Amino acid sequence: MDFKIGKVAVIGAGVMGTGIAAHLANVGIPSYLLDIVPNELTEEEKAKGLSLQHPLVRNRFANRGKEALLKSKPALLYVPGNADLIKTGNIEDDFSVLSEVDWIIEVVVEKLQVKQQLFEKIESVWKPGIIVSSNTSGVSINQMSEGRSQEFRQHFLGTHFFNPVRYMKLLEVIPCSDTKPELLDFMVNFGERVLGKGVVVCKDTVNFIANRIGTYGLMVTVQEMTKNGLTIDEIDAITGPAMGRPKSATFRTLDIVGLDTFVNVANNVHANVTDPDEKATFVVPDFIQQMVERRWLGQKTKQGFYKKE
Ligand code: NAD
Repeated sequence: MDFKIGKVAVIGAGVMGTGIAAHLANVGIPSYLLDIVPNELTEEEKAKGLSLQHPLVRNRFANRGKEALLKSKPALLYVPGNADLIKTGNIEDDFSVLSEVDWIIEVVVEKLQVKQQLFEKIESVWKPGIIVSSNTSGVSINQMSEGRSQEFRQHFLGTHFFNPVRYMKLLEVIPCSDTKPELLDFMVNFGERVLGKGVVVCKDTVNFIANRIGTYGLMVTVQEMTKNGLTIDEIDAITGPAMGRPKSATFRTLDIVGLDTFVNVANNVHANVTDPDEKATFVVPDFIQQMVERRWLGQKTKQGFYKKE
């Protein structure tokens, strides 16, 4: 079967979904950017007299994602006019668009069950030929497609972009046990030639390759900081500019990733490794758990280890 990608649906308009939609727009590919429907009005919506049924409310999360994208610095869109290629919506009112696209990318919260439920729903409107992928940081590609038909799984794989999508060259592509070899070849080619990425094909092991190493490094750094009484500033000074990484010091990176996502990723490794020392490395420290409880999630809530203007 020949694959092609002309139109895409990106489900999840958070940090990564918006970055992926922007990257697609940058290469001229239109996408639908969809998110969930809110179940409560904000104070601002109440003041405007909007109801929960109003399209502006129902599309609030995806609209917010697109607005954040337009304000992003450094810019995630090469040409701001390309933003017109991204149409926002929600997964209830616009679910049928999923059968009109060539590629559906799941970019929702890093929880196995949420992803499994979403793929079950997607399969109800899915047509053979449509590529379906997950941007998971490390949840098993095989597990998240368990219960789906073999035909669906033949069209399913992991496409793991890195943050910020415009600037990070790496794209990990992870086949499940049923992925068609010709789809894997197509994705590697498409990732390199159309999306301009350096593609690495990974086995479906926990956190794949880059995050298995990267999350390990972050966890060990945080533990060493606590053990040796160092400060956030000291760690960022050592792991940032001094190492030639002015923008990707440890805690600056965590703010960009999102602390809730980081905790989910670390928990996934903790739950899936068996070596006791390795398990201990992936126990999230209390102070990070507390930050997540307070919704100090990093740049996306404008408060993390640093404040965002
Ligand atoms: P995020 O919290 O910024 O955004 C997730 C979005 O998904 C939210 O807008 C949320 O409302 C939406 N959502 C949740 N459940 C949904 C559902 N059932 N249907 C539709 N939308 C739903 O998270 P993120 O950082 O963008 O991460 C998304 C995925 O990408 C995760 O799997 C994560 O592990 C992975 N990832 C994240 C990074 C990173 O640096 N943040 C990097 C690579 C991969």
